Amino acid sequence: MGKLKKGKLIVFSAPSGAGKTTLVKYLMGKIPALSFSVSAASRNARKGEVNGKDYHFLTVDEFRKNINQDAFVEWEEVYKDHFYGTLSSEVERIRNQGQHVVFDVDVKGGVNIKKIFGEDVLAVFIEPPSIDALKLRLENRATDSKKDIQTRIEKAKEELDFAPFFDVIIVNDDLDIAKKEVFEKVSEFIDG
Ligand code: ADP
Ligand code: 5GP
Repeated sequence: MGKLKKGKLIVFSAPSGAGKTTLVKYLMGKIPALSFSVSAASRNARKGEVNGKDYHFLTVDEFRKNINQDAFVEWEEVYKDHFYGTLSSEVERIRNQGQHVVFDVDVKGGVNIKKIFGEDVLAVFIEPPSIDALKLRLENRATDSKKDIQTRIEKAKEELDFAPFFDVIIVNDDLDIAKKEVFEKVSEFIDG
């Protein structure tokens, strides 16, 4: 039997509320050859989130232990005391199965994964139509406190500056159009 070809890497980054989770979930449902890289995170689980499926939820101490043991490909303190990191074990496990790895990481993590894995990566930036639209989406999502929404909006303004470092920028205004674009770009990359 021939050796399995290692899977490719598809990174999604965006300011919080731009619609990244919505688009990633859609894509994963459409393309069976994709597997999601479950990150470690030191925040509390939101309603409906499942440990080991959405994130590996860790305490800050547990997270630091993983940093010391060199368990991460990359990690960031995205918000104060909210650490997030891509586990090397997760990436290896998925790639060795011949599946393509999908990442949902912040803009700095996205740029770092591109630097580390180079040509094997398609880095996709999901852009909101405006900051006002982003605020409205976060308010309507109703998963974060008013204070957290404010923090996320402030950070979004800096995060938008990272868009030019990505291979593809998709503006998520009309969701159906964004879904179509994401599907086309990713299919083209994994078939190429
Ligand atoms: P992220 O993962 O980037 O934080 P989500 O996927 O959770 O964002 O989307 C934020 C909120 O906006 C959710 O409530 C989602 O249903 C909604 N949403 C996503 N895309 C659109 C869109 N194109 N138009 C309006 N609302 C959207
Ligand atoms: P949330 O708390 O909304 O789930 O995620 C907050 C931010 O952390 C998002 O921008 C998300 O993409 C990012 N994030 C999630 N996992 C990782 C990761 O492993 N590494 C990095 N750098 N960011 C991550």
